[in-house]
Amino acid sequence: MIVAENKPFHDILGLIEDAKKILIVGCGGCVAVCLSGGEKEVGVLASALRMSRKKEGNPLETVEVTLPRQCDPEYMDMLKGYVKEDIDCILSLGCGVGVQFIAERFSKWVIPAQNTKFAGGTIAHGIWEERCGLCGECILYKTGGICPIIRCSKSLLNGPCGGSQNGKCEVDKNLDCGWQLIYDRMKKFGKLDLLLKIEPPKDWSKSRDGGPRKVVREDVKIS
Ligand code: SF4
Ligand code: SF4
Repeated sequence: MIVAENKPFHDILGLIEDAKKILIVGCGGCVAVCLSGGEKEVGVLASALRMSRKKEGNPLETVEVTLPRQCDPEYMDMLKGYVKEDIDCILSLGCGVGVQFIAERFSKWVIPAQNTKFAGGTIAHGIWEERCGLCGECILYKTGGICPIIRCSKSLLNGPCGGSQNGKCEVDKNLDCGWQLIYDRMKKFGKLDLLLKIEPPKDWSKSRDGGPRKVVREDVKIS
C-alpha cells in the first residue's frame, strides 16, 4: 500500500489560510489502512480545525466526505455533489495521487493534508515500513525476495558494501544490512551461486526518471 502520514496540524491550519468553508475529502484505500486518511481521521481533523478557528474568533465551516478511493474516476464522480460554489478550498487526506486526481477534476484550490511517504506494509500495529521503490522492473527473483534498492541504504545492486558489520548497516546501526538479509536468504535456499553473478547497471528508464509512467492493459481497456 501507499503509506502516508498527516502533515503537522499547524501546517494544515496555515495551508487553508482564511477559508470560511472547506471540503475535507478522505480516502478509504491505502491511507485508511495506515490510519491517516480514512473516515475517522477526516472527522478528527475537521473538528480540530473548527475548534482551533473558533478559538481564534474566525469560525470555519467544514463539509466532510470519504470516497472509497481517490485514485479512481468512478469514485471521483461522487464528489460532484459536494464541490459547491461556496467551498473555498478542498483538503484531501488522500495520498499525492488522490490530491492530483481531485485537482484535475475540479476547478477548486486543493490542499494535501498528508505527506505521502512510500510503498510499504504494516510490520506491527502502528508501524509501517518501506519495501518497494517502484523501480518498474522487479529483480526480487535474483535476491531472494528482498529488495536491494530499498533494504540496502545505498541501493546497491551488487552488495554488500564494505561497511556491513554484524549484520547491521553502516549508515544506521539499528538497521539490518539489506545485503546480509539477502545473503542469509540465498544461503537458506541453496542459491548463493546466484550472488556470484555481477548484476549489470539497472535500466532506470523504467523507473520514474523521464516523466510519468503509464500501464496500458489492452485486454481490459475500454476505448
Ligand atoms: S526490485 Fe523494484 S519493483 Fe522489485 S521490490 Fe525493489 S523497487 Fe520494487
Ligand atoms: S551496510 Fe549493507 S545495507 Fe548498509 S549500505 Fe552497506 S550493503 Fe547496504
